[in-house]
Amino acid sequence: PRDASAPLPGQEADLEKALRPRALDDFIGQQKIKDNLRVFITAALQRGEALDHVILSGPPGLGKTTLAFIIAEEMGAEVKTTSGPALDKPASIAGLLTNLNEGDVLFIDEIHRLAPVVEEYLYSAMEDYAIDILIDSGPSARSVRIALPPFTLIGATTRKGLLTAPLRARFGVDFRYDYYDADLLRRIVLRSASLMDVEIEEDGAHEIARRSRGTPRIANKLLRRTRDFAEVETAAGPGDGRVTRAVADHALNALDVDEAGLDDMDARILLTLMEKHDGGPVGVSNIAVTVGEDSGTIEEVYEPYLIQEGFIARTPRGRVATRRAYEHFDIVPPLKQSD
Ligand code: ATP
Repeated sequence: PRDASAPLPGQEADLEKALRPRALDDFIGQQKIKDNLRVFITAALQRGEALDHVILSGPPGLGKTTLAFIIAEEMGAEVKTTSGPALDKPASIAGLLTNLNEGDVLFIDEIHRLAPVVEEYLYSAMEDYAIDILIDSGPSARSVRIALPPFTLIGATTRKGLLTAPLRARFGVDFRYDYYDADLLRRIVLRSASLMDVEIEEDGAHEIARRSRGTPRIANKLLRRTRDFAEVETAAGPGDGRVTRAVADHALNALDVDEAGLDDMDARILLTLMEKHDGGPVGVSNIAVTVGEDSGTIEEVYEPYLIQEGFIARTPRGRVATRRAYEHFDIVPPLKQSD
């Protein structure tokens, strides 16, 4: 049911865009990133320069795209967006780069998925604001250097480890996102509810927040679904549209979001680990086959949260289920030789 990276249907996507904060002051949490960013933006504006290139890394739905747009807004610049997989030929990146205006932001999502030939174009573009284009072929082939206006490349990635060293080295600003705690998510839910004109109680917002896997996109989605229940069906009968804690609890249970905020796939991963692999250690690819999910998705979407919350531990020999995982599902841990 929940894949934070899956595209949303039309109206939901519009609503999500409408909920996007537009200014740095409206961006809730990630305080360290915001504090540093303010300094870099102010300094660049004072010098009349483009902001240095920025790499944003972290699990999906934590606000990387949102921040890229905010940076452009604060710099008074335009954004052009694309993604690693969409840039399949050198011509496509050359076209984008030569269409930039001074100070513009080029946002490349999933930048770890760039084709090597495309990536090489970026090196000189980022370093010297220039690209070398090959014209003609055969004996008359020659390369022509085209100057680019100063611009800011913002790359977003869920797998920073997959970036090549030369690309990584060309980003002057490097921000890594953390999951949001329940209090920040509660503020995000309250802000979204007010933009959506949903009546919500503090307790209701808190219930959604603490079961949103530390992720604003999930918090917003659960708020939209909870609103549906609040308008149609609550545990106590037809709803009046008001989101209380009881309404949120009823909605989240109906959506298979458990008490700790784990969803169906989280549960399958943990149960596979405990019931099929004796609690581990076991490799991610093994778990992936059993639960029928791509191992990259498990590594970048599901596992980071399960590790942060202490349900899974990473060891040199593979993943192991922790005591918390056994307690959460009320399963008796197997006796290991080391116990
Ligand atoms: P992906 O990498 O999957 O594109 P992302 O990290 O770029 O994800 P966004 O699309 O920027 O995530 O954010 C998802 C939604 O969460 C946005 O619509 C926005 O409304 C909300 N959001 C994200 N971060 C914040 C924040 N700090 N404050 C308020 N809302 C936020």
